[in-house]
Amino acid sequence: MIWCDEEAALRGAICQVARMAYDKGFITNVDGNFSVRFGNDGILITPAGLPKAFLTPDQITHIDLEGNVVAGSTRPSSEVTMHVVAYKERPEMRAICHAHPKHAVAFTLAGLSLDVTVIPEVVVTIGTIPTAPYGTPGTTELPESLRSIVRCSDVVMLDRHGALTLGTSIIDAFRKLEVIEHTAEILYYARTLGAVKELSPEEVRKLLSTRSPLGVTTKNTLCSRCGGSHEGYQC
Ligand SMILES: [Zn+2]
Repeated sequence: MIWCDEEAALRGAICQVARMAYDKGFITNVDGNFSVRFGNDGILITPAGLPKAFLTPDQITHIDLEGNVVAGSTRPSSEVTMHVVAYKERPEMRAICHAHPKHAVAFTLAGLSLDVTVIPEVVVTIGTIPTAPYGTPGTTELPESLRSIVRCSDVVMLDRHGALTLGTSIIDAFRKLEVIEHTAEILYYARTLGAVKELSPEEVRKLLSTRSPLGVTTKNTLCSRCGGSHEGYQC
């Protein structure tokens, strides 16, 4: 198969990130799906049912923005509609990671929210981590449940299921996936040690005021008043 340099690099990067997600325990081997935008009207996405730790660039499927296969011998991920919906809502984003990170999913099973202001660097970059309501896997319920959240957030937990992150590149999306799981893991340990106190609105305001001087431009749930659970902050 002949690819241009850009397509070859993107296919390789998807395989690398899928391997990293497996190595970090964010997925069991056939779980998760990873995609990048390719050109103006294409998406390269991991295939359904194949072990993500051993993907090769030729196994990545090329689909259009509606999810139809353009090229490739593999079936696209069964969760392709989530990617299609997220790219439609956020056309400026170039990559999506979806995985089932253990601590973060455990929080949703226990009914505990990650939509909290607890870790300063997370408040500055992404704000908080919202959760989309439960949707039956394999149906349109799931993509529809996250549609309104991805408009105002680069990160979202899917109740009883996993995490979805959007990035300007596949590495950027993967970094946000790491932030979700790292936050959940820290919160898990903190809660076993004692009560966890959120940062005060004043402390949050001060943190958000550092975004502009630091050149932080990521979508921030506190600035975009995502989910309505926080009062409006100036960013
Ligand atoms: Zn999933």
